[in-house]
Amino acid sequence: MLEKRQFYIDGTWCDPLAGQSSEVINPSTEEPCAVISLGGAADADMAVAAAKAALPEWMHSAPRDRLALVQRILEVYKSRAEDMAQAISLEMGAPIDLARSSQVGAGTWHITNFIDAFDKIDFIAPLSDNAPEDRIIREAVGVCALITPWNWPMNQVTLKVIPALLAGCTMVLKPSEIAPLSSMIWTEILHDAGTPKGVYNMVNGDGPGVGTQLSSHPEIDMVSFTGSTRAGIAISRNAAETLKRVHLELGGKGANLIFADADDRAIKRSVAHCFQNSGQSCNAPTRMLVERAIYDQTVEQVRELAEATRVGPAQDPGKHIGPVVSQTQFDKIQTMIQKGMDEGARLVAGGLGRPEGLNRGYYVRPTVFADVTNDMTIARAEIFGPVLSILPFETEEEALRIANDTVYGLTNYVQSQDGARRNRLALQLRAGMVEMNGKSRGAGSPFGGMKQSGNGREGGVWGIEDFLEVKAVSGWANDAE
Ligand code: NAD
Repeated sequence: MLEKRQFYIDGTWCDPLAGQSSEVINPSTEEPCAVISLGGAADADMAVAAAKAALPEWMHSAPRDRLALVQRILEVYKSRAEDMAQAISLEMGAPIDLARSSQVGAGTWHITNFIDAFDKIDFIAPLSDNAPEDRIIREAVGVCALITPWNWPMNQVTLKVIPALLAGCTMVLKPSEIAPLSSMIWTEILHDAGTPKGVYNMVNGDGPGVGTQLSSHPEIDMVSFTGSTRAGIAISRNAAETLKRVHLELGGKGANLIFADADDRAIKRSVAHCFQNSGQSCNAPTRMLVERAIYDQTVEQVRELAEATRVGPAQDPGKHIGPVVSQTQFDKIQTMIQKGMDEGARLVAGGLGRPEGLNRGYYVRPTVFADVTNDMTIARAEIFGPVLSILPFETEEEALRIANDTVYGLTNYVQSQDGARRNRLALQLRAGMVEMNGKSRGAGSPFGGMKQSGNGREGGVWGIEDFLEVKAVSGWANDAE
């Protein structure tokens, strides 16, 4: 069993001041694979003090020096790719091939895109020709708490740590206590890349402990959080007392509007996307809205695809889906499947219990419900497992109404070959992102939601700007250095 009890504060690994042991469970086997410490207030305070002490120098460092650090981090990250893939696969159950490609790859992609976006940030810019002695200065928000979930660990950690570094912020990262191992490797990467001491600190802990201590800490200027809407609300409340900036990336209940003129790969693509990462993605297209003319044939096709989806251990190579992350998630998903049946949805694939042949590990059967109505629990709540709901619609207006009838607003999807319809829908869907016909969003595109899916934008220029304050200056001397 791995011993990973230390925290990283002020440039060194140190023993916890108030640590309590916590086991990391391998979801493929239900066996403990590592032990970490959950810190307490004294650990959070020490990390915040280190970040505060490092702030003046880092926030006024030359932007090119910060960029150079991030370029070194990218190189070290690439050199640790296999260690990282193994850690993610072990701690949260992503099949090893998915861990190597998408989980680790997401980090490489985001760091690269931030490096490319950095040139577009003007740290000192003129206001206008009419105000030659005015300047708009962008400066670091200050000391940041970065709180991340377990489902795409490096995706979320890189989306926060890298723009915070580039903006000139100092920080304390608190990764998910369920999947902390990847963040400990990440911390080694930052150390090896030469991050100045105190600029980046990492403390393990849980939500009621370090999570709450950081989000209510008087010396923290901003909390950037990705996780559940429940925790997002708690963090906002705790941060309100000191009026911190709060950046939230929360849950989703993505609608996927499939019209009769969708391309012939649309259904396959949509099912694969919903089940990817065992359904544990905030942007998963979990509500499949299907035009009545192709409804019956689509339900049949989805059934076949779900039944053909293989489930197995994370360490096995291949394109199967792995277990879900924990007993808690497994139980929650089972409750949701039961609710779907109780509330009258038609179960067409999967169902309760584990897939055949798997009696240990948090494995869930890829499950599909048809004839779902948008008032059912399975259409309203984020399930965070491989469970797809299919809802029929008659007209574009009805599809739009159903899609927008949710507290969430993260990603919606449209499958149609009618360009005018796609553009109309893109304008009317209430979500931070609309992805159409399986086209991925491009490099540097902002990720984030509306409504209860959150308020931040991560990635590219927008992601860096979220860590910057705008300062308006008049009387700037144009003839001085
Ligand atoms: P979670 O909210 O339980 O935990 C996320 C992190 O917050 C963990 O580090 C946890 O320790 C911490 N935390 C929990 N309660 C807290 C509190 N009261 N105060 C401070 N910190 C607290 O979420 P999870 O189960 O780890 O992740 C799954 C959730 O994350 C899903 O709802 C998913 O949709 C969401 N998510 C959103 C995005 C996005 O960008 N919108 C991306 C990935 C995941």
